[in-house]
Amino acid sequence: MRLLVVEDNEELAELLAKGLRAAGFEVDGVGTSSEAQAALASIRYAAVVLDLGLPDGDGTALVRELRNRRKDSIPVLVLTARNGVDDRVSGLRAGADDYLVKPFAFAELVARVEALLRRPGQILGTSMRLANVGFESDSRQVLIDDKRHVLSPRETAVLEILMRRKGNVVPKQLVEDQIFGLSGDVASNAVEVYVHRLRKQLADRGAKVKIHTVRGVGYMLTEDE
Ligand code: CA
Repeated sequence: MRLLVVEDNEELAELLAKGLRAAGFEVDGVGTSSEAQAALASIRYAAVVLDLGLPDGDGTALVRELRNRRKDSIPVLVLTARNGVDDRVSGLRAGADDYLVKPFAFAELVARVEALLRRPGQILGTSMRLANVGFESDSRQVLIDDKRHVLSPRETAVLEILMRRKGNVVPKQLVEDQIFGLSGDVASNAVEVYVHRLRKQLADRGAKVKIHTVRGVGYMLTEDE
């Protein structure tokens, strides 16, 4: 998943990029609001990490532009050095999804970004691909060898979260959150049931991917070699 980091402090920008890459993200970095606009217009990012104090304007204006003019629901995490409650509130009012006040612990930043990316119902507008399997998150279409397949909503949800983190272990809890959201009591083997069904659906349709079970941890999707 590719993130855009908008931060004019070069030292911090480098630190952010390095840490987020270590956490498994691809990162593009820019230092001004206008560069951010250009990047957002040409590339579909999974999320934006946005410093509010930029040399060519306030980051909240960028968020407002995204939400109001471009109707873009891309998740935005605002970074602010300011202490005033007003700044944070105005960031959120402009349409940011979350904020973090500098200085922050890096683990906290990664956790917040991951939380934004797994928010149920979030339209990320990305299309993902692994081997002969494609997934369009806007339309929730599953493509195998470029042919459209209809899976159940829950099987689709499992596939989506595994595709988003292909090649990485996805904790079982995260899969469960993705399928059931906050809908309360979930049978203890429910995730296994849906993963089992998804495996069968994929195998029956000739998908060249494999869902590995990592015992006691979760699941991982890879190409089937
Ligand atoms: Ca700044």
